[in-house]
Amino acid sequence: MGDCIFCKIIEGKMNAEKVYEDERIVAVRDIAPVSPLHLLIMPKKHVVNLLDLQPEDGSLVGHIFRVAAHLAREAGFADSGFRIVNNNNAGAGQSVFHLHFHLLAGRQMHWPPG
Ligand code: AMP
Repeated sequence: MGDCIFCKIIEGKMNAEKVYEDERIVAVRDIAPVSPLHLLIMPKKHVVNLLDLQPEDGSLVGHIFRVAAHLAREAGFADSGFRIVNNNNAGAGQSVFHLHFHLLAGRQMHWPPG
């Protein structure tokens, strides 16, 4: 998508610190972290949010979650805990309309989330 900042990051046209990449997904550090570990894990394919997933995307979200667990473990937060957040549409806080999952760790999390 031409004006999508995450597509530009994925294509290398915009700077971001990539910490993981495979054929289907990318993980980058959030530019405005809200916890010591704050990664964004996203598909390379432009998908707006969960509402835009297609039948052929079947295993994509499961793959993202497996990689999230791998990255949390690799960063040393498997035992202390980590949180995955996914905002769908503006009312839930989505500001970038390319599907992504926040991986947050390194501080005490609270419930309910804001
Ligand atoms: P959301 O509000 O759930 O759509 O999350 C979007 C996230 O993208 C926010 O946490 C932003 O800080 C982050 N973000 C926006 N632009 C960039 C960028 N260029 N590089 C890395 N993270 C970004």
